[in-house]
Amino acid sequence: MAKLRFLALEEILRRQPAKIDFPDVKTSEYYGVNVFDRMKMQKYLSKEAFEAVVKAIEKGTRIDRKMADQVAAGMKAWAMEQGCTHYTHWFHPLTDGTAEKHDAFVELDGNGGVVENFAGKHLAQAEPDASSFPSGGIRNTFEARGYTAWDPSSPAFIIDKTLCIPTIFVSYTGEALDYKVPLLKSLAVVDKAATEVCHYFDRSVNSVQSHLGWEQEYFLVDEALFLARPDLVLTERTLLGHASAKNQQLEDQYFGTIPERVAAFMHDVEVEAYRLGIPVKTRHNEVAPNQYELAPIHEETNLATDHNILIMDLMRKIARHHHFRVLFHEKPFKGINGSGKHNNWSLFTDTGINLYSPGKTPKTNLMFLTFIVNTLKAVHDHADILFSSIASTGNAHRLGANEAPPAIISVFLGKEVSKMLDEIEKSVSERKMTPDEKTELKLNIGKIPQILLDNTDRNRTSPFAFTGNRFEFRAVGSSANCASGMIALNTAVADQLVKFRKDVEAIKAKGVKKDEAIFQVLKRYIIESKPIRFEGNNYSEEWRKEAEKRKLPIATRVYEAFEAYLTPKAKKLFVNNGIFNEVELEARTEVRLEKYIKQVQIEARVLGDLVNNHVIPVSIDYMTSLISNVKGLKEIYSEKEFKELASARMEVIKEISGYITTVKAKTVAMINERKVANKIDDTLERAKSYEEKVFPYLDEIRYLVDKLELIVDDDIWPLPKYRELLFTR
Ligand code: ADP
Ligand code: MG
Repeated sequence: MAKLRFLALEEILRRQPAKIDFPDVKTSEYYGVNVFDRMKMQKYLSKEAFEAVVKAIEKGTRIDRKMADQVAAGMKAWAMEQGCTHYTHWFHPLTDGTAEKHDAFVELDGNGGVVENFAGKHLAQAEPDASSFPSGGIRNTFEARGYTAWDPSSPAFIIDKTLCIPTIFVSYTGEALDYKVPLLKSLAVVDKAATEVCHYFDRSVNSVQSHLGWEQEYFLVDEALFLARPDLVLTERTLLGHASAKNQQLEDQYFGTIPERVAAFMHDVEVEAYRLGIPVKTRHNEVAPNQYELAPIHEETNLATDHNILIMDLMRKIARHHHFRVLFHEKPFKGINGSGKHNNWSLFTDTGINLYSPGKTPKTNLMFLTFIVNTLKAVHDHADILFSSIASTGNAHRLGANEAPPAIISVFLGKEVSKMLDEIEKSVSERKMTPDEKTELKLNIGKIPQILLDNTDRNRTSPFAFTGNRFEFRAVGSSANCASGMIALNTAVADQLVKFRKDVEAIKAKGVKKDEAIFQVLKRYIIESKPIRFEGNNYSEEWRKEAEKRKLPIATRVYEAFEAYLTPKAKKLFVNNGIFNEVELEARTEVRLEKYIKQVQIEARVLGDLVNNHVIPVSIDYMTSLISNVKGLKEIYSEKEFKELASARMEVIKEISGYITTVKAKTVAMINERKVANKIDDTLERAKSYEEKVFPYLDEIRYLVDKLELIVDDDIWPLPKYRELLFTR
């Protein structure tokens, strides 16, 4: 039978060239048609119901059943006009994907027919079978059933004639089984804490909203080639494959012309995103061949998180219309850049002020500095937790590989902001400041906006960088749910802001004026958080050494990073702020450890299969053909001539044979380590064993197989090669 690899290549050559289907209307004319947004709510809901939903969105109030019935009726009317036949509660279980269970609107009418029905109770709550979602033991210890409940703060939308209702997912005993519950809680605590701090500067602020603008990186691989790679199909990363002679050395991909087929894909994704009210804005080629990026305009964090998850689903689906598969894995290819998801984050007041954007007066600038310094302090105090929030099996390949943030969290502020902080540190003292000193400090603070305006300071290597009007959390993995990092960040900042108020009040109680008290506390934080500030090259070896000296947390193992959620410090942060209780923290850590184990286990199995069923058989075939060639030479040449002619071939035979022996031996050893690990009961110990004993084999075996790939006849090599995977567009 012909090999899948060659069938794939033939199929690609036969394909019609890509064509873009441009819609003949302006984007603004169809933007949000598939979303039950405020405009549609106004049209389909009674005034009373509309106001109840708006209040729920803005103030987090509850919607009672009677009102829910009204909202459901309006939603149904709208959805049916759009041709919907089904509805689903749409939620984020702890799997990095979404879950949905579709129900038709139809119900029996009692007269042999059906009617469409969708009541408040269907909108408000549903009971998917929770037992098949990861729960880290919650379900065993407590309650097997869970339910989903409507989240009015994220609007319902339509996909493929199904009305999707964003929901939270909790167990009957109240533990969160998803990302949304803790995210919403963290957004509420940061709202409260930040609003109170704003009141030092501006009494008119009523609420503060966290904003997120994600940048999503991804790879596209031709579908036919993808299907010929069992490792991609089953693990989303290549477990084998020698580097292509050309990869990203020429740096000709970044911001380059977007290939037509890719452009057609992006275009379709964008049209669908606009219909769903996702404000996508930027698209471009990334550094690695076949790597791209998509970014929207930032939105409120809960909505932005939903939109990111939603668009990842859309991309997977639409890619197939273009004979592509999209890879969100953090490191699908060895030796070239992996993918991340920058989380641009800031806080906005209801009065329209971005708290990370310097204002026009010394007072608003002091507010700006207060938020910068508190964020700095929060990241300093909880660097281990932030790192934990983004740790994953895939991200472990990418972090620290000199292409993405290292495994050390640090903050980049840029020259100008750093200078300001130095200024505060230098000029503020415990004693009362003289009027002159105060004036000078305020004057300096007043200068920030002009300075920042033309300060395009960027440090691409920093995992947490201030970029003029926001912080960029760059260490997030491309496949991750944004919520995980956002929960950690918002909670850490909220916790810090509460402490800040306490610290300021304590000084004020001693009779010190408010501004001076603020300066004194800021100065203390600036000094305390110094170790986390780093403006240099995060990839350098010196930084690692320096970070060790500064005693910054450096997690070298994935399980270590996960365990950071179980330290007394982490428990204090999350439990005291009401984000997770101890059971949830433990359950989540268990889920992550288990996922890690399963992922490495699957990778190890796939690699074992590839070695035994693909690599070794073709290597033996090739060796056999060389052997028969040598035998033939021996038959027709004299002993002396034969020795001369056959020596090179015999070398190759020896080489292949050697590799086969070692590959085989290592594969057996890996399988044995897996067996040992599988017998370990304790999840943490099992994860350790997988990470320390099984995982290293993946690379060792790969190294040898990649050597074989270079030797064996290309005509019989069964797996699409890197040059094909990366340069077929
Ligand atoms: P770059 O690659 O230079 O970082 P991009 O334009 O690719 O810039 O992405 C920047 C992202 O940051 C966008 O999603 C944008 O909406 C978002 N962003 C800009 N300002 C803010 C802000 N104040 N808060 C949150 N996100 C922001
Ligand atoms: Mg960015």
